[in-house]
Amino acid sequence: MFDDMLGTAMSERGKQLLKDFPALQVLHKHDRKGVNGMIKVAEDCEEYNRRYAEPMALEIDERIGRDHDYFNWDIVKAGCQYRFLSLAIPEGVGGIAGKYIVTNMALAVHELCSTCGGIGLIFGAHTLGVSPLITAGAMAHWDTVLHEIAEEEKKGNPVLMAYAITEPSAGTDVEDPEFLAKGKIGMEARRTKGGYVINGRKCFISNGREAKYLTLTAALDRNRPLETWTTFLIENGMPGYSTPRVERKMGQRASHATELLFEDVFVPDSHVLGYPGDGMVNGILMVMGASRGPVGAIATGIATGAYNHFMAWAKTRRNGHAPIDEERIRMAAADMHAMLCANRNLFINHALVADASFGKVLAHPLVNSTYLTPRAIRTSKPMYKLLNSMAGKAFINTLLGLFISDEEITHILALASMAKFHCADNAMKITSKALELMGADDSEDRRWVEKCFRDAKLCQIYEGTNQLNRLCLYDTEISKELTVEIPRPFRAPLKVEVN
Ligand SMILES: Cc1cc2nc3c(=O)[nH]c(=O)nc-3n(C[C@H](O)[C@H](O)[C@H](O)COP(=O)(O)OP(=O)(O)OC[C@H]3O[C@@H](n4cnc5c(N)ncnc54)[C@H](O)[C@@H]3O)c2cc1C
Repeated sequence: MFDDMLGTAMSERGKQLLKDFPALQVLHKHDRKGVNGMIKVAEDCEEYNRRYAEPMALEIDERIGRDHDYFNWDIVKAGCQYRFLSLAIPEGVGGIAGKYIVTNMALAVHELCSTCGGIGLIFGAHTLGVSPLITAGAMAHWDTVLHEIAEEEKKGNPVLMAYAITEPSAGTDVEDPEFLAKGKIGMEARRTKGGYVINGRKCFISNGREAKYLTLTAALDRNRPLETWTTFLIENGMPGYSTPRVERKMGQRASHATELLFEDVFVPDSHVLGYPGDGMVNGILMVMGASRGPVGAIATGIATGAYNHFMAWAKTRRNGHAPIDEERIRMAAADMHAMLCANRNLFINHALVADASFGKVLAHPLVNSTYLTPRAIRTSKPMYKLLNSMAGKAFINTLLGLFISDEEITHILALASMAKFHCADNAMKITSKALELMGADDSEDRRWVEKCFRDAKLCQIYEGTNQLNRLCLYDTEISKELTVEIPRPFRAPLKVEVN
């Protein structure tokens, strides 16, 4: 019956995807082309997993356990043929992102992480690094940095990005306006002629050592971090910039978490994304509104991997007995299945709502019409200067404000936080239950589940701990104390009461 509804031309993966995500089944009736694009993303990820990730993931994880400096570039290069680095790069500058930018991203990391959370994180953290360029509407850099990433990827050369907001003395504090207002910030970007000089450290930055470009937030005045929080584009190779240390990780090991050191790093004015002082909105809250839902997808992917290995173990007969013959194992399987269904609905719900705003802007004819201007003009010096000027930024932000309201962005952030903490908590429940029931079994399935358990834990920590995300949901949707105000020209900088 289901086959009849979807038509026989659809691949098995496509049919399964629509069964797993009922919202996509409904959407398929209204936008067949858009959903077919999502199916293609899922199929590509599945093929990548089968050909590259599955044969390598356990080996990479174990090798990094012994040698935490090791990074496997081959696994990243293999992703180029599927355009994983261009998932958030607009089509007009060579990427593959359109009106389902968030949904495709969520589906991609969900699928990739069902085999390996660490490999999935390399691509996920890269997209996170790209995000502030999109949310700040930094079109001057779309035609340079994003174009370069997309074009190099087509040639099989991965150019990675990273997103750097966490500091040694401020992790949770940088992700919430109220906490940032009283946070102890170490990094400072001091005004100088033609730009800023940055000093300080960032820590735990995924892809930090491997990234050619970083998006970074820093205070212009450490005593007024919230009002002066600003987003910058950093290029690896800027004098004074280094990556002294890579962390020893428990999970998601294939992706490095790195300490970044800035010693008098000069960053030109052109590399300020958005307005100076609006970093909490364009560099954090809008980015998190897009990316926390996909973290829920990462967690769900990892838990799905654990569930699949658990079920394979449960159905394996030894001496005439299979664990699945026992009622307690069947009940545990039903619990896991229900949690995975709930997770999928939560993160796809966020993604589709986010795309009704972010995707709508990206695919809008007005944005697309800018690509009718020849590239030579778009990348000319005067145009670069205009787009980076206050007038150019004001124009882009005014347009953005016409398409997305503060209420929409606030609601998207609430859905993102809810998907993030609920999916991550369920992933911990699923992976730990599976590991517990498999006991001291020394099968390959148990090795995978043990890795999934370690990988799942990180989903409760990054992109704001689950505690912070609970508070964010409360502030935005329950008490309605926090509204994300999109930066607009002449709008007063964000301020909060500090008790
Ligand atoms: C492997 C890894 C990769 C990461 N990747 C990146 C990255 O790519 N880019 C990046 O910028 N950052 C990254 N992070 C940083 C991550 O986002 C932070 O670790 C996270 O925000 C928590 O900050 P913290 O570790 O300083 O913990 P803390 O802020 O010190 O928090 C410690 C505990 O206290 C709780 N807590 C703190 N303040 C409050 C409060 N006011 N109310 C209630 N509870 C509170 C927290 O929830 C947590 O449980 C990564 C971290 C890890 C471990």
